[in-house]
Amino acid sequence: MPENSVRTCLECGEKLAGRADKKFCSDACRIAYNNRLNSDDTSYMRSVNTILRRNRRILQGLNPTGKTRVSREKLLEKGFDFSYFTSQYKTREGAVYHYCYDQGYLELDNHQYLLVVKKEVL
Ligand SMILES: [Zn+2]
Repeated sequence: MPENSVRTCLECGEKLAGRADKKFCSDACRIAYNNRLNSDDTSYMRSVNTILRRNRRILQGLNPTGKTRVSREKLLEKGFDFSYFTSQYKTREGAVYHYCYDQGYLELDNHQYLLVVKKEVL
């Protein structure tokens, strides 16, 4: 551990003294931290994030060129979950693109989807 690095409690930010592997200033902080980490809120968010990341990976994997047409069956077969996306974009014509981060899709006719990649930076 370099001299100039100040270790702080992961929960309250208080400076830590003592053992180099110490992470908390007190048992209260350790317990509070672990409770928060394991709370239902956190595990719900974690599982949503996992689904979103998987969705994005599936879209990206099926769309190496940046614009591809795939069937709904193909997406479902890969484990895609249509309930989860990060944003929507509606064109003036009324078409609605759904995005999982930068990877998007547009429903076409006959259970086909157009996969696209968002280019603009937020
Ligand atoms: Zn603390």
